[in-house]
Amino acid sequence: MNRIHTAKIVVIGAGFAGIAAAATLFEAGFQHVQVLEAMGRVGGRVYTMRPFGSDIIELGANWIHGQEGNPLFELGKEHGLLSEGHSASTKMCLPGSITPCDYFFKEDGRLLQAEDVEQVCALFSRLTTRAFDSELEDRHCCLSLGDYLDNAFAESPLAATEDGLKVFEWCKRCECTDEASSSLYEVSASQISHYEALEGGFFNSLGPGGYQAFIDVLLRKLPAGVIMTNTPVAHIEWALDESGKRSTHPVQIVCEHGQSFEADHVIVTVSLGVLKQRAALMFRPPLPNSKMAAIDKLEIGTVDKIYLCFPERFWPEDCAGIQLVWDNGPEDAAVYTSELEGEAWKETWFKKICGFDTVARHPNVLCGWITGREALHMETLEDVEVGDVCMRLLRSFTGWPVPEVSQVLISRWGRDPYVRGSYTFVPQGVLAEEHGALVAPLPPEPSSDDRKPLQVLFAGEATHVNFYTTTHGAYLTGIREAQRLINLYT
Ligand SMILES: Cc1cc2nc3c(=O)[nH]c(=O)nc-3n(C[C@H](O)[C@H](O)[C@H](O)COP(=O)(O)OP(=O)(O)OC[C@H]3O[C@@H](n4cnc5c(N)ncnc54)[C@H](O)[C@@H]3O)c2cc1C
Repeated sequence: MNRIHTAKIVVIGAGFAGIAAAATLFEAGFQHVQVLEAMGRVGGRVYTMRPFGSDIIELGANWIHGQEGNPLFELGKEHGLLSEGHSASTKMCLPGSITPCDYFFKEDGRLLQAEDVEQVCALFSRLTTRAFDSELEDRHCCLSLGDYLDNAFAESPLAATEDGLKVFEWCKRCECTDEASSSLYEVSASQISHYEALEGGFFNSLGPGGYQAFIDVLLRKLPAGVIMTNTPVAHIEWALDESGKRSTHPVQIVCEHGQSFEADHVIVTVSLGVLKQRAALMFRPPLPNSKMAAIDKLEIGTVDKIYLCFPERFWPEDCAGIQLVWDNGPEDAAVYTSELEGEAWKETWFKKICGFDTVARHPNVLCGWITGREALHMETLEDVEVGDVCMRLLRSFTGWPVPEVSQVLISRWGRDPYVRGSYTFVPQGVLAEEHGALVAPLPPEPSSDDRKPLQVLFAGEATHVNFYTTTHGAYLTGIREAQRLINLYT
């Protein structure tokens, strides 16, 4: 019998990576593939919900990052999962502007001039692009992203104005959302060039089924019963063929509720956050030092959303978002350094909120974004308390008649035991080779000895050295590891 028909494969995790891996394996003819998912739902960090009526909101991923060469953009086009779309960028209200735009308010309630904001945002964008495109000057290469941006911005005449400086700090706070970091002083300026941005900008017009519709397309490729939800894996025993135990398969997966599964291969797609917390106990024998070092050195940051549903819209129709510009924001280098040791930042956690954006298909809903340690702290608070704080911020910054919020929904990705963070970033000092060690399967293939190769394989967003953080990165890693096994058997 064809070995492909008898090989047993277990996939851990039913996010984009795990589902893509399973779908690819079934398409190639594998018949014994089981997906074990800890949560009571599939999708992982894709979480399409309907808390405010029949239209969707996304608690996790909501953009397709780039269009050219993005397999999920292609999947969306093929299956009609996209709406008439546009690329997201910060848009300010210029005189005569008729497209929706962002309103930038200072702490004292002053609305900033759109032209002034736009100049600073455009410069910020040019400076970050330079880092992403590996075009940094030598003197900037060894700096953190925050220090590089501070140095480069200081050379611009825009840095001479108080408002220019404050808008620049706002830009840094927003960039923390992309980097999933507490601060840009944690992120390497040169290493972010390993991240590859696909052409076409952020595509933010998913169709009415949202990201879940993409997951559903992949699920249709799986036979019924392949995914077992509410099945958290406790540990993975591998190299059983060498251990002297009488085992017909080299891998055994043991779940928290007692079930166990024998396999020839296991594809592990749990997040970097879960690996950080559990890898030392999860694998028997332990993972090699190079893998553990990668898990230790790479970082996963927390990005959370705060949905506020109001009884009616109180912002102008052309307003795409209300952005908060603080006098002493948390992203300021001096503030960050002085408060790093203490806990004072917990008192002002809300200063990390970038602003509140309008939400597609929900005329009365705003969505706030918050990152890093402040997001983690917010997750400890009750939704209603967070809602009250946000209402007070909106009232004091805008001076508009903000009604009482009727529903609040916040994400808690940092404290979710099966995620432990939102997406990966590469801290200062981590080399591309070290990131690569996270990807390496165990034992490698071709094997230098007679051990069975590819017993434990690693997929998931963090394991893509160029598209980490993204849904398409996660999806491609699932296919990559499935393909590794297909190559082994064909
Ligand atoms: C707030 C937020 C916004 C985002 N925005 C975007 C965006 O706009 N665009 C974009 O491209 N990306 C975005 N992302 C990132 C994107 O969601 C992820 O990169 C991607 O979904 C990760 O998929 P994955 O399969 O690698 O991991 P996951 O989706 O985390 O899947 C891993 C699965 O493993 C399961 N698991 C964990 N431990 C165990 C265990 N012990 N046993 C069994 N199962 C286990 C988990 O429950 C989970 O379902 C965002 C993420 C967040 C949190």
